[in-house]
Amino acid sequence: MESSTKSALINTFQQQFGDKFTTNLTLRTQHAHTQTWLPNQPADGVLFAENKQMVIDAVNICHEYRCPLIPFGTGSSLEGQVNAPQGGICIDTSRMDQIITIHQDDLAVTLQPGVTREALNTALRHTGLFFPIDPGANASLGGMASTRASGTNAVLYGTMKDVVLNLEVVLADGRLIRTASRAKKSAAGYDLTHLFIGSEGTLGIITELTLKVFARPEQVAGGVCAFPSILDACNAVIMTIQSGIPVSRLELLDPLQIRACNQYSKLAMPEKPTLFVEFHGSATHVKQQAEQFAAIAEEQGAEPFQWSSDESALKQLWKARHNAYFATQLLRPQAQAYVSDACVPISRLAECVEQTRLDLEESQLIATIVGHVGDGNFHVCLMVDPKDAHEIECVEAFLARISERAISMEGTCTGEHGIGQGKQAYLRKELGEAVDVMLSIKQALDPYNLMNPAKIFS
Ligand SMILES: Cc1cc2nc3c(=O)[nH]c(=O)nc-3n(C[C@H](O)[C@H](O)[C@H](O)COP(=O)(O)OP(=O)(O)OC[C@H]3O[C@@H](n4cnc5c(N)ncnc54)[C@H](O)[C@@H]3O)c2cc1C
Repeated sequence: MESSTKSALINTFQQQFGDKFTTNLTLRTQHAHTQTWLPNQPADGVLFAENKQMVIDAVNICHEYRCPLIPFGTGSSLEGQVNAPQGGICIDTSRMDQIITIHQDDLAVTLQPGVTREALNTALRHTGLFFPIDPGANASLGGMASTRASGTNAVLYGTMKDVVLNLEVVLADGRLIRTASRAKKSAAGYDLTHLFIGSEGTLGIITELTLKVFARPEQVAGGVCAFPSILDACNAVIMTIQSGIPVSRLELLDPLQIRACNQYSKLAMPEKPTLFVEFHGSATHVKQQAEQFAAIAEEQGAEPFQWSSDESALKQLWKARHNAYFATQLLRPQAQAYVSDACVPISRLAECVEQTRLDLEESQLIATIVGHVGDGNFHVCLMVDPKDAHEIECVEAFLARISERAISMEGTCTGEHGIGQGKQAYLRKELGEAVDVMLSIKQALDPYNLMNPAKIFS
């Protein structure tokens, strides 16, 4: 964009939105922050939108000026999704944080996109309901829908793709649409809801969501179980899933990750490959599940499975799991953490994780393996010195191998973090000509490429 046009655009935003709009460099940089060594690419201005009309007005102005828009929730995405490589205006939705209606009888909730997952659960606390999708960060629901996020509970409750009933979206030309009704199922036309879920802000800005919520289980029980090797732990996971035990959480932490969690969360778990497991249901039901799991674990040479339904012990355990990323950072304080994200069909899990472990050993990189293995999804959290060009080269080669390995096993280069800027090289390898269909959709809905340009596709 020419500098005179940019000045006119900034003036228009300042006049229209006053102090809700800023060009302050620190704020712009914070809004472009990435959790990788990708360069920080700030937008030209940040609008703190407070309602859908402000979003529509901002989109109309940007449409007129042919200016990029970068939707923003809390900025916790991991693949450079909120960078602004072509400049433009960042639309921060964090002040759109109202829960509009709790549809108690329908087990649903309608809310604005800036509500975070923790705020939603706080609001639901006295209703007997809860929202299960829990990425490690306290992300916004708009951002979570846009990255098709999941987390530790996805093995039982599904991912964002399973819990969104409808979306209200502002399109690139300023039109406001609702993608579906509030009915639990519908066969009315194309499934636009799922088109927007995972679109990473490249097709429109979500201004409202209706989500499924769930009745709190009568009992929650869980514990940890240490295995002789990662392979044994993965084999126990495969058998648990294949036996149809309805685990609600099934997470793997390798010995280095356990060491990091012990240090960070003041725990004393043996430094061995460990599964964190949780069951939801009636008291009889969770006992039955725990016993079935214990038998499978024993068959794989695990130490006796210690489990309980003590609420505070479980809370401490899962807090440690959610803090795993921050715990890993302490292993090499000057380093930058980079989290890879592969997902394979459950039958290929052990093979994929084991090959990745051997690869890590050969590459001599400092990293932990941790993941939502009940879904076949795991992460390698690499501790990288961003100033060491050789190390970055090794990491990039490793990342290429892990993505290609997952794709070769009929899996995906990203189970939950999305493509953003970081994974673009693998999208076509994974989906081939389907990417051209995605590009046609993008072209039809956003012909001037204004919505979060240079994300998902280069
Ligand atoms: C410590 C840590 C642990 C994590 N663990 C997990 C995990 O277990 N599972 C998981 O899935 N992810 C995980 N993540 C990644 C991250 O939390 C998710 O990607 C999350 O969904 C991003 O939400 P956000 O509100 O921060 O979105 P942002 O980072 O602000 O935005 C993400 C994308 O969504 C778009 N967007 C945001 N709001 C809107 C909107 N209203 N309309 C349209 N587009 C929008 C943005 O343009 C961008 O492309 C983790 C991240 C961290 C830092």
